[in-house]
Amino acid sequence: MAEAPRILLEHHLKKLKLPTVLREYEKLARQCATEGLDHVQFLARLVEMETIDRERRLVERRIRQARFPVVKQLESFDFKAIPSLNKMLVLDLARGDYIDRRENAILLGPSGVGKTHIALALGLAACQKGLAVRFTTASQFVHEMIEARDEKRLLRLQDQLARVSLLIVDELGYVPLSQTGSELLFDIFSRRYENGATIVTSNLPFQEWTSVFASERLTGALLDRITHHVHILEMNGESYRLKQSRSRRRPPSE
Ligand code: ADP
Ligand code: MG
Repeated sequence: MAEAPRILLEHHLKKLKLPTVLREYEKLARQCATEGLDHVQFLARLVEMETIDRERRLVERRIRQARFPVVKQLESFDFKAIPSLNKMLVLDLARGDYIDRRENAILLGPSGVGKTHIALALGLAACQKGLAVRFTTASQFVHEMIEARDEKRLLRLQDQLARVSLLIVDELGYVPLSQTGSELLFDIFSRRYENGATIVTSNLPFQEWTSVFASERLTGALLDRITHHVHILEMNGESYRLKQSRSRRRPPSE
């Protein structure tokens, strides 16, 4: 191809944000010429490449934006290690229909049983569907909110967190929240009520949630919203970490 049309084409492709077309058109054009494919077939292949790449880029972006501390998958979760967990329900949640229905999920159980792992894996599954996800811990959430308030960008952050398709709040219960912290968390949960899906993990049974929030009234109102359309995953069992380190220490003869 002469230089001028090529420069013009590449300029348009950049402007239209078609990076895969830009990268691949020459090679594919040569290939299609060799195979005797016509212009329509060439174009169809090229556009398909862009579409596939675009989906992959979207998923990668969703995973980055979710701010997972690590990426965990359901495939690496050993369900046999925790028989109390409803595997069918977990697999069903991974399909993501609860997100479309704007329902919630609560994972309850002691430390080390895999609550964060499941929450991360459900978050990843949602990202793979192209949905906007945000992962945070309860204390990180409050910290971030207070920082945003001091920098006068609280409203923007609240809007962001209210809008994601799936919000995951991990580790509710390890640290008691201040009055302000409780109110900020309550505010997000109320805004998301019937507007977006939320996953919460906690080491505490519901009766003890009052010890986390600054007031009993707030706890009641929060529980009311979060448990209205909810899937509860009880994870009672031994700590996976503990079990693993114990089996590593066991002498080989045993
Ligand atoms: P929790 O959040 O309940 O305290 P985590 O999800 O952090 O527990 O689990 C602790 C560690 O053990 C993590 O590295 C997690 O990936 C792993 N783990 C826990 N349960 C399982 C399991 N059933 N199968 C595979 N890995 C597990
Ligand atoms: Mg955890």
